[in-house]
This record gives sequence, C-alpha cells and structure tokens, in this order.
Amino acid sequence: MDARTPAGSAFRSEDVARPPLSRFLQRCHAEIAGDRTGAVADYIPELAKANPDHFGISVATTDGYIYEVGDSAVPFTIQSISKAFVFSLALETIGAEKVESLIGVEPSGEAFNSIRLRTDNRPFNPMVNAGAIACSGLVHDVEGSGAFDRILETLGRFAGRTLSVDEAVFASERATGDRNRAIAYLLRNYAVVKGDVDSVLDVYFRQCSVLVTARDIAVMAATLANRGRNPLSGEQVISPYAVARTLSVMTSAGMYDYAGEWIYRVGLPAKSGVGGGIVAALPSQLGLGTYAPLLDSHGNSVRGLKVCVALSSHFDLHLFNRSGDVRNGIAAEYNIGGVSSRRNRQPHEQTILDEHHQYCHVYELTGALTFGVIEYLSRRLVQQRPHSQFVILDLHRVPTITKAAGQVSVS
Ligand code: GLN
Repeated sequence: MDARTPAGSAFRSEDVARPPLSRFLQRCHAEIAGDRTGAVADYIPELAKANPDHFGISVATTDGYIYEVGDSAVPFTIQSISKAFVFSLALETIGAEKVESLIGVEPSGEAFNSIRLRTDNRPFNPMVNAGAIACSGLVHDVEGSGAFDRILETLGRFAGRTLSVDEAVFASERATGDRNRAIAYLLRNYAVVKGDVDSVLDVYFRQCSVLVTARDIAVMAATLANRGRNPLSGEQVISPYAVARTLSVMTSAGMYDYAGEWIYRVGLPAKSGVGGGIVAALPSQLGLGTYAPLLDSHGNSVRGLKVCVALSSHFDLHLFNRSGDVRNGIAAEYNIGGVSSRRNRQPHEQTILDEHHQYCHVYELTGALTFGVIEYLSRRLVQQRPHSQFVILDLHRVPTITKAAGQVSVS
C-alpha cells in the first residue's frame, strides 16, 4: 500500500474498493511515520542495528481478514511479546494452580527488568522479566531440553506459520544478560526457578529472539481475541480459560510501568517488546500488531503506541466502552393468534388454536444469546407465566449461545 497518502486527503475513487479500516490504517501510518522520537534498544547490542525507519502495521480480524500497511513483513525479534504467549502455554500445560502458586498477577508499577520481587518472594506477574523467566523455568521443568522447541512450536501455532530464531540476537542477549541472570539466580534462591539457571535462561533468551513480523503478531493477537482459535488456520491453539487469564495480565501489566495509563487511555489488552513490536487484542473482534523500533523510556514503541491510541479512539475500541441493549435480543414477541399460517390444519386442531392462541407465546430471538439477553428473556417469561402456558423460542436468527447464558436458563 502507498504509505505516503497525506492525512485527511480527498476521497479518491480507487479508495472505494478498499475497506474503510484499510484507508484509516494507511492515513494513520502516513501521519505517524514522521515521528522520530525515541531510541532503538541498545542494551542488547544486536538490537541497536535495527533500522529506525521501519514502521509496519497489521490488523487481523477474528474472521481471518488481514490488513497490512508499511513494513508489516519486516522481521524483528519478538522479545517481551513472547511473555504473554508463553504464560498461556504454561497455564495450559502446567495448570493454573501450579503457575499461580509461583507467579503473581499484580502489576508491579516498575520497569520490565526490575529485580524486585513481591514480599512473598514471587515475581509480580508474568509480563515482567522475573515472571517470564519463572514461566520459562516451569516449561523447562516439564519439557527439559525440549522446552524451547515446545515454545517455538506454540508461538508458530499462534502465528499460523513456522517461526525461527535470530541467532545473532540470541547470542548477543546471552552474552550481555547479566541482569536477567541475577534475576534468575534470585528466583532460584526462592525455589521459584528449580532447574539449572543457564538452561532456563537459554530458553528465555531464545524465546525473546524469535523472529516475527507485524502481520505475525496481529494474527497471534487475533488468536487471543478469538478465544484461542487461530482465525487463519482454524486451529484451537490454547483454551479459552488460558486466553482470558493471559488477556487479564496483558491488561494489568502488559505495558510495564505504563500499564495503568495504557488501559486508561487505550483500553485494550496489549504487550510490547524492546524489539519494537506491540500487540493488542480486542476480544471477539481483532488483533493488532505494530512494528517500529524507536522506543520511549518505558521500552514501548513510540509509533506503535500512537497507532494503538489512534485506532482505539477513532473507532471507540476501549474495552470498557461497550454498547448493547439486551432488549434488542428479542426481535418480535406475539401470541400465535396474531400470525397467519399456510399450514392446512384439521378442523379440531384449528378450533384448539382459535380458542387457546393467547396461551401460546412466541419469542423471535436474534443475535448471540448472552447472559444479559437470557436474563432479560427469562425475567419476562417469569412475569408472563400466568398468561402463557406455552412458549416457543424461535432461534432461527441466533448464531451462538454463551456458556453464561446457558447457566441462566438452567438455574
Ligand atoms: N529480552 C529482553 C530482556 O529480557 C526482553 C525485554 C523486553 O522486551 N521488554 O531484557
């Protein structure tokens, strides 16, 4: 796509063929591309080689459509974005109870590489280095020398393609990772990490060095948004339980010491990495991936952050600004006396219908049956019970029924 279309430019005829989101992303890219503030991460020397001009945006919808603008196919290392996905793997394979007994879910309010632990000597959460190293340690406990392969395979299933490692970044991070080494030894001192520290750190450094593109991480986020089912491959990568917990810690701690500000302003679960990537997910709707290696003082991509702010505010995507009226779930409501039927009936059947039609109520339902819709419907049914002995629920236009809605109907 042409990234140089000026912002707010006149509506051109060729634009008609493009979906509106495509036009928005292109304008957004053009507007933000000129921002050269921030600096590439250089504490891992190999990352300092990143091209500061690179800027890619991708959105993947939960029905599997991909939007891409700019450098969306340029590979970069996933870095801390891996933490969210490895946490979901740990929940899935090791079990929530064990994982939660060793790693907290409280925002730390501190930088990603903080060496401070909670007063009970557990890491604050899996989105900061201490928690992520503990997570890699848990996978290592179970998988041994196969731990990294398991992680790489899982990240690939989230992305919908086979991923690989940037060996130069891995070597660079391992050679200079003394701070992470200190964190890992501290964790081992408190028996949060049980395995050999160097082996666990190799898993962690390698998972951070996995190469992805903005498009890959958009698909990974869309898989989270789609309750763990990759919208491109159709594969159920992770359970909805693990997805909900992963999105929760992304919401409270995914952007480190900017997490509170982030959820307040942008309102999307997200995770950033010092490689320059940011992923964000809007449950049941979309995954967003951005790549721009110039970072702010928190370690978050400056331009990526701006894209998220622009997208969220323009389309009103804030998670806590949802609309929906449960009353719209009932499209029509009538007793069967009010409808004409082309069916031929026996005279005695017709007599019964003529005499008792007011006792048989029809509810035409529409859209997903959520907790709210079923609660509203069941309340109306109870209130109308004296008048209608029989109820017909027309589910022709109901695509899904949530588990919560099922609970209301049987309680
Ligand atoms: N590999 C990096 C580190 O451990 C990840 C940090 C990040 O992306 N915020 O320092």
